[in-house]
Amino acid sequence: MSEGATVGEWVRWASRRLESSSPSARLDAELLLAFATGLPRSSILGFPERRPGHRVGERVCELTRQRRAGVPLAYLTGEKSFYSVTVGVGPEVLVPRAETELLVDEALSCLAGRRAAVLDLGTGSGAIALAIKSECPDARVTAVDRSLAALTRAEMNARRLALDVSFAASDWWSALGDYRFDLILCNPPYVRSRDPHFEGPLRFEPRTALDGGDDGLEAIRSVLAGAPRRLAAGGALLLEHGYDQRPA
Ligand code: GLN
Repeated sequence: MSEGATVGEWVRWASRRLESSSPSARLDAELLLAFATGLPRSSILGFPERRPGHRVGERVCELTRQRRAGVPLAYLTGEKSFYSVTVGVGPEVLVPRAETELLVDEALSCLAGRRAAVLDLGTGSGAIALAIKSECPDARVTAVDRSLAALTRAEMNARRLALDVSFAASDWWSALGDYRFDLILCNPPYVRSRDPHFEGPLRFEPRTALDGGDDGLEAIRSVLAGAPRRLAAGGALLLEHGYDQRPA
């Protein structure tokens, strides 16, 4: 690519480079261009004839190289939209998945705006807890994780979004005592240890956030074992699990 190329030409270039490695090459290219130029994606789409400042080309080349190598797009741009919030992410936390928005939908219909006590177990970036707090400000939301790096990230996200969520270090239930919650939410690690995706697309994300042991159910068992003691009367536990784990 020549230095004088337009934004639109850079998008087409990056998109072609990403075709063989990403199922969303065009979108990835647009988002990388937006990130590299500091412009919103709408402006990338609306003004493709713009010529970005020098150094942008260099940055786009490097970002495209890393994306081709499989680095999740969210780790390159440092953020991910989830439900109604955008959270900062880095390799210390799982990238929030679109399918986990279903957990938030279900949680919100359980809550129906109530002043309930909500717990997010294994919060990672804080995405679930923060989306709940932003949609249901009256909920009292607590979020725990055993990873201190994840908690630092989640607290940073809460500050940036000005959302009042309480965070604590806890290995599942270990630090939670006998406090009871009306709604407990959890997206546990549930991928089987020998799943080949660990050598593929999942290799950049924290293993502890994904690996559910030999049968993928280890974390789910710990969560289920501790839940009855922490659920308030009439409370509910909602958790995400693998597509084939429902019978178990
Ligand atoms: N849905 C995620 C994936 O397949 C797994 C998330 C998890 O283990 N909690 O990449």
